[in-house]
Amino acid sequence: MKWEVVMGLEVHVELATKTKIFCSCTTEFGGEPNTHCCPVCTGMPGTLPVFNRQVLEYAVRAGLALNCDITRYNKFDRKNYFYPDLPKAYQISQLYLPFAQNGHVDLKLKSGKTSQIRIHEIHMEEDAGKLVHSAYDDSTYLDYNRCGIPLIEIVSEPDFREAEEVTAYLSKLKSVFEYLGISDCRMEEGSMRADVNLSVRPEGSTEFGTRTEMKNINSLRAIERAIAYESKRQIELIEDGGKVVQETRRWDDAKGESYAMRSKENAQDYRYFPEPDIPPLSISEEEIQHYIDITPEFADAKAERFMKDFGLSEEDADIIAASKNLAYIFEETVKLCDSPSEVRFWIMSQVLYYANEKNLDLEKLSISPEKFAEFVKFITGGKVTRQAGKQVFEQLMFGGTDFDVAAYIKENELEAVEDTGLIDSTVKAVIDANPKAVEQYKGGGTKIMGFFVGQVMKQLKGKADPAAVNKAVLDALEKL
Ligand SMILES: [Zn+2]
Repeated sequence: MKWEVVMGLEVHVELATKTKIFCSCTTEFGGEPNTHCCPVCTGMPGTLPVFNRQVLEYAVRAGLALNCDITRYNKFDRKNYFYPDLPKAYQISQLYLPFAQNGHVDLKLKSGKTSQIRIHEIHMEEDAGKLVHSAYDDSTYLDYNRCGIPLIEIVSEPDFREAEEVTAYLSKLKSVFEYLGISDCRMEEGSMRADVNLSVRPEGSTEFGTRTEMKNINSLRAIERAIAYESKRQIELIEDGGKVVQETRRWDDAKGESYAMRSKENAQDYRYFPEPDIPPLSISEEEIQHYIDITPEFADAKAERFMKDFGLSEEDADIIAASKNLAYIFEETVKLCDSPSEVRFWIMSQVLYYANEKNLDLEKLSISPEKFAEFVKFITGGKVTRQAGKQVFEQLMFGGTDFDVAAYIKENELEAVEDTGLIDSTVKAVIDANPKAVEQYKGGGTKIMGFFVGQVMKQLKGKADPAAVNKAVLDALEKL
């Protein structure tokens, strides 16, 4: 039998307000345990929450960006449960009237296929603390720094059919929220966390199978693996005559397996009731219009523009535009040097190479467009070859704010060799030193050309124009 995988996502995103949702504690990541808390966010009796209105602004802007209907009259609800990371024994959330509903996200997949994921709702809530399990003994420590950090939870419809849609969706949310400046969406720091609800059904069926939920998976790669594992587990279970149990499962990325954690709770298990400590909030039409007016250009529109204005390929434009910071560096540098294809070359080759190699966050990269443009002018002016330029570019990326492009090129003697006499004499030396290769060439082995060019470039430390070297080698060989 052929099976279809059906998935829905619940994504928690921490909003980058300066202070927490109901008190004035900082939202900064890290810090000594239990130093970013106060009586309000640790739920001391007698304290009262005060709503940070910036949370509503960020939330509404997220809702608008995801094409949702925005609720004008907002209320909070109390979700009761006891867990050590939640000292109040309830979480302030929204059940009855989420601030955003009925949205959608359009995705472009690698195959060129497009798909649309519907958003059921988005609600605001507060984050819980962190449990830190000791590596040495059985003890568990509690860190309440995260308690009360504002969250939005984006609940999708069960519209995902393959893992690629899930990762494309999460990447898109990350890009949109970074452009809005409302979250840094760092999965590894937990500021974006995804729960995947997954079930399987025979292909062609319209009924849903029993679903399991995998919680808080913290990288795109882990999500792909978890989906592959869980769909296989469910299919095998059913084919063996078993039944999927509705439960929450924990994904262990190191072992590549998931484990049953607890049976899944339903809304009624939480004894929700309207939060009595926070008055309802309304949002005006003017406010909403203002947020629409200040909506930035998102990645899709930017990529279209990069293709049209700068001649980038669709793939390159999509990659550069997906990152707010990379798009900024690209566009500002192009403004200063007017060489989009050369700027593109260095971003697509060196920047992405180092980002991957060193696992860098593209949003944290700092490359000065002024210095980048100065560097590009050395290349396009023929003063430095691309090969020698790699050494300069590495410094441009990691050399700090004091890095001086021109001085570095001079000090390290990286200027291109323009002296044709030097190129010719080097070519002659290489030919003299390799009589066997010359014989091969004469015998019709034209592929050996590359060997000569490589040797000459090596001796000139990559500082000669490859086209000039190529021509000099060919001339010299033909004259033999
Ligand atoms: Zn606090």
